[in-house]
Amino acid sequence: MTSSARRPFRAVAVLLAALASGGCGSDDQAADLVLVGGSVVTLSAEGVVRGIAVQDGRVAAVGSEESIRRLIGPETRIVELNGRSVLPGLADNHLHSVGGGPGVDLSRVRSLDELLETIARRAAETPAGEVVITNSDWHEGQLAEQRLPYRDDLDTAAPDHPVVVVRGGHEYILNSAAIRYWGIAEDAPDMPGGRVGRYVDGRLNGELVDRAKGLVTLPAPPARSRTAEKQALADQYATLNRRGLTSVRHPGGSPEQLELIRELEAEGRLTMRVEYLLRAPRSEGVDAVRAAIESWPSPPTPDQARASATDLVRIGGVKLGVDGGFEGGLMREAYEEPWGENGTYHGLQTVERDAFMASVGALHEAGWRVATHAVGDAAIDLVLDGYEEAARARPVTGLRWVIEHGFIPRDDHFSRMRDLGLAVSAQDHLYLAAPSLVEYWGEERAGWTTPLRAYIDADIPISLGTDAPVVPYDPWWVLHHFTTRGTISAGVTGPDQAVGREEALRAMTAGYAWLTFAEHERGTLAPGMLADLIVTAEPYLDCPDPCLETMEVDLTVLGGTVVWEH
Ligand SMILES: [Zn+2]
Repeated sequence: MTSSARRPFRAVAVLLAALASGGCGSDDQAADLVLVGGSVVTLSAEGVVRGIAVQDGRVAAVGSEESIRRLIGPETRIVELNGRSVLPGLADNHLHSVGGGPGVDLSRVRSLDELLETIARRAAETPAGEVVITNSDWHEGQLAEQRLPYRDDLDTAAPDHPVVVVRGGHEYILNSAAIRYWGIAEDAPDMPGGRVGRYVDGRLNGELVDRAKGLVTLPAPPARSRTAEKQALADQYATLNRRGLTSVRHPGGSPEQLELIRELEAEGRLTMRVEYLLRAPRSEGVDAVRAAIESWPSPPTPDQARASATDLVRIGGVKLGVDGGFEGGLMREAYEEPWGENGTYHGLQTVERDAFMASVGALHEAGWRVATHAVGDAAIDLVLDGYEEAARARPVTGLRWVIEHGFIPRDDHFSRMRDLGLAVSAQDHLYLAAPSLVEYWGEERAGWTTPLRAYIDADIPISLGTDAPVVPYDPWWVLHHFTTRGTISAGVTGPDQAVGREEALRAMTAGYAWLTFAEHERGTLAPGMLADLIVTAEPYLDCPDPCLETMEVDLTVLGGTVVWEH
């Protein structure tokens, strides 16, 4: 499935030959797979049609039921849609992993009591003094109380074990035993890009945000064999195939992890198209970035990226970051009180301005495509400043540099983004975290968080994803959220930013293809395109809300091969 030698329009030629000969007589002209009798949302000039045929891993034809049935031969597999939909395969633009792991699983707790009981249970089966760590894939927005557990809460659950509650990618919460274990002084100060949380009386509350996490060195997870690592990866991609994903972009990892994925591919066990961003060393200045560049393979040019669009595994650039997450997005205006600390707290800048500028410059000089995490509007200011400075040395237009997340763009950002030819990689954080975002940033900023309507209206190339495991991996929650602006526990938030179902789907398919220099091969179901497609249990364009939130996927096809079937 990695053959880039396959000629893109061979399937079309075969089809034309079949039509010319008055239909389908022989095996080699017949389709491998046809899906008929439902709505095929092609997202191409063909619009919505009633059938689709696949041959040699590509879309051979789309059209009326009758025209597609003519391509059925003795070996053709026929899928009767009975009103279901066929869509291009979904793509997540920012997925670290599906979550889970060996830590305490908090993804299903719904109250503080449940959370504390779950930690207490793990502590009871762990020798006293040994560290207890949670998995990261949960958020206080899922708890009835909608607040974090702090040090005193955790002390009631596990007084004799150092406990580290990991929450998303930006925050730890420690109990008293853990504060002692890592020798954190009661008067430990904040640091640039890092925040040490306190109760109102000034005691540590256990919270360590962004660079303050550096006060703690977590014990390494138990070692797994290479075989087990690869199996875990294969299982992860299978889980994602079940929800209709055929492409994911991993936003920042190591060359070693990439090697594992490539091994899986070589063994014929990879069921996902993977775009891999390398992670630039964090916060250590430009010398560390230069050293990393030396150790990496050479970067693909845009032409090479286009030419490899049929490959399963590709390197898509380098990931940088400039600010925190939910509780640390860098804002022009201070946070709401009490988080705003009397109008002084604007969030966290996780890298010095000069170091960021120099890193972007060094990556650009070496030919790397840059993608930078920026949540708040002031963070976007900084990223645009850095990209513009790099562009003065050599234009970046056409290189499709990226802003990751882009929660709070401002009107003055859009033209700057367009001038640089940037893409924005958007995710559904608000779906999970709306209550916290309202608390930190107020109704107005929360309601504007990741304004898909505004991005599309401003002609910014946009794609969609989850940021799993910071947010759960389900792509249908993304489509539900952006079409309704519904959230798990705060109702509809920012309804004026809702988009239509076709627009949301386009972002999650064709928009992603553009983000990855693959729009000529993927993201729509026009004849000649790769046959990455799914069948949804209900008609995508017409089922009544909130049908998308729980949509079942009956079939997932990657390059003509079935990788999931209900
Ligand atoms: Zn992320």
